[in-house]
Amino acid sequence: MDDLRQSYLKVLPRVDEVLALLEKSGGSEGLSRFAMVEACRYAVDLQRKRILGAGNSSLERPTAEEAKGIAEERLWELRAPRLRRVINATGVIIHTNLGRAPLCDEALQALLSVGRGYSNLEFNLAEGKRGLRYDHVNELLVMLTGAEDAVVVNNNAAAVLLVLNTLAQGKEAVVSRGELVEIGGEFRIPEVMEKSGALLREVGTTNRTRLSDYEGALDEKTGLIMKVHTSNFTTIGFTEEVEARDLAELGRRTNIPVMHDLGSGCLLDLGKWKIGGEPTVQEAVRSGSDVVTFSGDKLLGGPQAGIILGRRSVIEAIKKNPLNRALRIDKLTLAALEATLRQYLLFNDPERRIPVLRAMTESLHSVRKRAADLMGRLEGIGDDRFSFQLKEETSLSGGGSLPGRDISTVAIAAGASHLSARELERMLRENDPPVIARINEEQILIDPRTLVDDEAGYVEEAFRRISEGE
Ligand SMILES: *Cc1c(COP(=O)(O)O)cnc(C)c1O
Repeated sequence: MDDLRQSYLKVLPRVDEVLALLEKSGGSEGLSRFAMVEACRYAVDLQRKRILGAGNSSLERPTAEEAKGIAEERLWELRAPRLRRVINATGVIIHTNLGRAPLCDEALQALLSVGRGYSNLEFNLAEGKRGLRYDHVNELLVMLTGAEDAVVVNNNAAAVLLVLNTLAQGKEAVVSRGELVEIGGEFRIPEVMEKSGALLREVGTTNRTRLSDYEGALDEKTGLIMKVHTSNFTTIGFTEEVEARDLAELGRRTNIPVMHDLGSGCLLDLGKWKIGGEPTVQEAVRSGSDVVTFSGDKLLGGPQAGIILGRRSVIEAIKKNPLNRALRIDKLTLAALEATLRQYLLFNDPERRIPVLRAMTESLHSVRKRAADLMGRLEGIGDDRFSFQLKEETSLSGGGSLPGRDISTVAIAAGASHLSARELERMLRENDPPVIARINEEQILIDPRTLVDDEAGYVEEAFRRISEGE
């Protein structure tokens, strides 16, 4: 190591020296000593790394004042929440990486009110004794879906695991080869089955499975017949699958329970908006399966949760399963779920109240108008290096729902003469709040379908900052 580096390392400020400066400068009142010392240590560490790593030209003598500045920035970083709001301009409505469903206003209010104080989570107010947490949504789910009974858990993966474990541990669960799907994020049906203790009995082929295939697989080892909604892909061509109704009938005839993993769980028939193809929860229940499972944060538009509907005896057995305790839903989720479900029960227009449904069902005309408005605002920035243009595009339902059913949209294709599409995408992403856009060839796409309320303003602000070189 050369002499200059050596000499600079020797004059690195001490942590307590930086701490004293930090304390004197104000702005950190009330912060823990732990956080402040951490920040100072981080600052001196960074200075050391710079000396060891920097080329000679940029080598500078480290000062305590400089370290104090670094420590202050570090404290800002530590104060800012890591999990934070982003603006979803991708047009993917149920975006798993962006937190799936935004919540409706009533769900947000419920979160605040239940989170702020104590609640009757497991307390029966009428009788003044212990109650069940599931009771808060049980009646709503039963009324909305026509199911006999219901229980809710952490997410749909947990729901599937719990149902399999309760009904088919040590026994065979019969599934069509065409339905052994991977949902993403390592959720693969065969692997979940293995963890549940159920033995996988595959029937049929990838593209065709008939009722006789199921019939041929049933014997005294069978614990469950399982149907999985292939929610994130479609098979086309020479295909055949057995309807849930026929499987339910087979189950009744042979006295074997039938489970239907619906995945996205839509309570509203989207056929009215010509977004067909997704079976509703009500249809699945009517088909006669003993158990139906689905997610709370896909097309239902609520918080992450797994909803299990079914016959009373099955739901009772699930509630008694010790695994249920490990997978149980928490009070905040329950509060948000209850409020979301109530929108479906009470109002004529859940599609206007539930954000994911609003995004799915907004007319092309209305999206076009919002796109034009936003484009006007972006052009109003008056930076000639930017170019904007309206483009017929497709939004995606996403999150393992409605595969192959793109939703028409009008997006803004944006480019900048001084930036590549990747750079522009990155700068939007590094904005506060981050704006997440799609890259399409040498442009980026801003899809207003997934922008809500005031979010167009944030997009405008982000472009303005980029223009001003902030
Ligand atoms: C999404 C999905 C799951 C997993 O649900 P999570 O709520 O994400 O745990 C399971 N099965 C199907 C068919 C799905 O679409």
